[in-house]
Amino acid sequence: MNIILFGPPGAGKGTQAAFLVEEFGIVQLSTGDMLRAAIAEGTELGKKAKAIIDAGQLVADDIMVGIISDRIDEPDCAKGFILDGFPRTVAQAEALETMLVEKGLDLDAVIEIQVDEQILFDRIEKRVSETPPEQRRADDNAETLRKRLQVYRDQTAPVLPFYSERKMLRPVDGMQPIEQVTFQILSQIGN
Ligand code: AMP
Repeated sequence: MNIILFGPPGAGKGTQAAFLVEEFGIVQLSTGDMLRAAIAEGTELGKKAKAIIDAGQLVADDIMVGIISDRIDEPDCAKGFILDGFPRTVAQAEALETMLVEKGLDLDAVIEIQVDEQILFDRIEKRVSETPPEQRRADDNAETLRKRLQVYRDQTAPVLPFYSERKMLRPVDGMQPIEQVTFQILSQIGN
């Protein structure tokens, strides 16, 4: 099973992906986690990505598409994968479509986790207050969230019609308790 978890920053994509990994034995491909790992390792990619991420902007499409394409070829993706944080632009969605055809793979569903913006601010404040300073993400604060939401509206939300035209979009109410959101996702993927 190959699925996309889609939604604004703070919608709970990572939390839900972790559950699906357990349930189906498929892998979570979080482009945000991959970029943070590259920053921690001090690679060339990490050096380029750091300022972009801290500013709440998006890393270039060709870089992200290359990273995902290589990652999908790894053996642990054979059982399936959950894309978390990718695609984030229409160009990435188009490249993914072409790439999957070339690799002979199908996409089963695009789960859209819908959440009101005010809830995202409440959640981020809670996450910051509950995380020790040394473990906080540099982009976890209300000011960067505002920028990231603007980027989401301008560059990422236009991906939604791309998938609804292909009848792949499955909306879930992300304002429900975590287990309820999981339940909705399972229903949407036919489990
Ligand atoms: P995330 O952990 O998914 O919220 O991602 C954190 C940051 O990494 C984003 O705000 C972007 O700067 C960058 N990033 C993650 N995924 C992508 C992507 N698919 N395209 C461009 N930038 C990305």
